[in-house]
Amino acid sequence: MKRFVKNIASEREYVVAREKEVPVSQYYGEDTFNFDVMRQKLPADVCKKLMNCIKEADKLDTEIAQTVAHAMKEWAIDKGATHFCHWFQPMTGTTAEKHDSFIELTEEGIPIERFSASQLVKGEPDASSFPSGGLRSTFEARGYTAWDPSSPAFILRNGIGATLCIPTVFLSYTGEALDNKTPLLRSINVLNKSALHMMRLLGNDKATRVLATLGPEQEYFLIDMDYYYKRPDLALTGRTLIGAPPSKGQQLEDHYFGSIKERILSYMHDVEEELYKLGIPAKTRHNEVAPAQYEIAPIFEEANIAVDHNHLIMETLKRVAQKHKLAALLHEKPFAGINGSGKHCNWSLSDNFGNNLLNPGQSPQDNVQFLVFLTATIRSVYYHADLLRASIASSSNDHRLGANEAPPAIISVFLGEQLTKILYDIEQGVITKATNKAIIDMGLSTLPVLSKDNTDRNRTSPFAFTGNKFEFRAVGSSQSIALPITILNTIVAESLDILADKIGTKSGDVRQAAIDVIREEFKTVKPILFMGDNYSKEWEKEAAKRGLPNKKVTAEALEDLVTDKAKELFNKYGVFSTVELEARYTIRLERYIKEIDIEAKTLLDMVKTKVIPAALRYQNSIASSCLRIKDLLGDRAPLDAQKQLCETVAALSNDIIKEADKLSRLIEKATAMHDEIEQAKLYAYDVKLQMEALRSKVDLIETVASDNLWPFPRLWEMLFIS
Ligand code: ADP
Ligand code: MG
Repeated sequence: MKRFVKNIASEREYVVAREKEVPVSQYYGEDTFNFDVMRQKLPADVCKKLMNCIKEADKLDTEIAQTVAHAMKEWAIDKGATHFCHWFQPMTGTTAEKHDSFIELTEEGIPIERFSASQLVKGEPDASSFPSGGLRSTFEARGYTAWDPSSPAFILRNGIGATLCIPTVFLSYTGEALDNKTPLLRSINVLNKSALHMMRLLGNDKATRVLATLGPEQEYFLIDMDYYYKRPDLALTGRTLIGAPPSKGQQLEDHYFGSIKERILSYMHDVEEELYKLGIPAKTRHNEVAPAQYEIAPIFEEANIAVDHNHLIMETLKRVAQKHKLAALLHEKPFAGINGSGKHCNWSLSDNFGNNLLNPGQSPQDNVQFLVFLTATIRSVYYHADLLRASIASSSNDHRLGANEAPPAIISVFLGEQLTKILYDIEQGVITKATNKAIIDMGLSTLPVLSKDNTDRNRTSPFAFTGNKFEFRAVGSSQSIALPITILNTIVAESLDILADKIGTKSGDVRQAAIDVIREEFKTVKPILFMGDNYSKEWEKEAAKRGLPNKKVTAEALEDLVTDKAKELFNKYGVFSTVELEARYTIRLERYIKEIDIEAKTLLDMVKTKVIPAALRYQNSIASSCLRIKDLLGDRAPLDAQKQLCETVAALSNDIIKEADKLSRLIEKATAMHDEIEQAKLYAYDVKLQMEALRSKVDLIETVASDNLWPFPRLWEMLFIS
């Protein structure tokens, strides 16, 4: 069924003609092998087993795989799919797919479409070209993918092709996780266990499962594709490496929540249609703070699915942009001088009845449970702020963290006034007097009814409680959110277990015991709370006094992934083995080095092959013009200011050549280094500093050089023309 006819008439013109209006609810999820399809296509007993496996995390009964594979194939072919693939998330941070056609030839050479149970359940992509961070030697380059039934299979449409994608994990033959999904799934199970244990202890025996819920708000930029391809820096590194700041940036604050331009809205509409077909609940869209910056946020989902869906959202944003002759930039800092992009990860816990465990309850019992989960989360951030920081560390996010628009590299927790007061009151044994709220007698002390509306906002906080969920705001826009969420799930599980142990050792009423434990814990962990302005210099000093980590540079922040503390934690919970953890560290460090290396070389190339020639041409044009005017007018020629301009341009050109040379030599030095940690530091400090030094000269000359001669689209054009 064709719903839309799209026609991109010319580069700047596009027409979206609607053939027929179909409410979203009628096609939502039509390209996913969802519960509805399962019910229609599978025999009742198979359907039930599969659903139990999905909803209750039961072990997959492989006997049903044949039936499921057959139904999936029929369904996919019906949808126009010719190929299938195992869709997985290698440690590159993106997704990978290797397509196989359904077509096989019988012995008589007759083509038939076939998709077997084993093809559904297991795949064997050659793993040798994926980063393994040293794991490779232990598994001899071979890896396999295995079906993750908890995330629905879907049809990926790209151009005229349609492919059945099966979400999978990616493992080595010796069982090490080569991907981001496996540890995430492990952490989800770990959290489930610890949370259930705590709930039982507190007398809640109804829930049978606890899920981490996740709603990532994805920020991105859109610029005209024409400009994008004329900028090697954008095409190769995702950000502009040079460019004089436009006179208008975001100072008028007229973009945030402004009316969305028609071209952009058509694009968003198209993106959302694709997402709805994939069963991705895109909910909000709006202009963000910087010019040409936007945001899309889905309704929250179970964490595993939310992570898969975030990957699909990122891919869809990029793919659909091409159709609209736009380029979607997911980089954390595509343009200096204006806001960069993040991905606020809203995170909470839900039981199998959909009760949000971070929702302040209406009953005393709920309130104690709420306070325990809240304290466990705060506690986990206090002890593992370094891990959360490391989970979001990348060369691109370094540009954003602490840049007065995004949270700093110091991880702290924002709670809001009311909750902070309650925790302090508990700590000090003061009975909270709620002034305008009903008081619930807990028989122990009194707590006010907590209400979501009472929580205030602090946009500068990296980890804020926002009413009924935490919002991890320091996460980068381009990254896979699997690792931050894996770490968050695991550290909260650990804190829940530790609190449970402490509560368990106390005699008497369990709720009283819980309040006592909260009191004791809070005394230790309260330095992680910060309600003030996270951008301020005073906070940096104060945080240092409190002993909170503040590693501004990825090269250093990553080291915290492989401390003894980290290894012990992840080993204990079986989320990462030591080699798995070390592999992630190695891969991220290597990636960091390579990314800056690519940036530095791209910058050099742009400067040497375009900027310097343009500068020299301009210099020459002023010089020859002066000479000719002198010929013509002799001593009457008013040339003093023109000579001055010529001198300015000549001096800048000279500087640029020198600075470029210095950068060249630094890259050579870095390339020759063998110690990766030292190498990373050279890139982090010397190379980046030299890139800045070169850039500042280039940006200066851009402001005086002839626009006709300037070899790249300028920032103002990219940001304001679309
Ligand atoms: P705000 O009040 O912060 O603007 P919303 O309620 O609109 O928030 O939610 C913002 C984001 O948080 C959305 O992406 C939403 O899906 C997500 N979110 C809301 N509740 C939860 C939850 N319980 N768990 C995870 N994410 C949630
Ligand atoms: Mg936002």
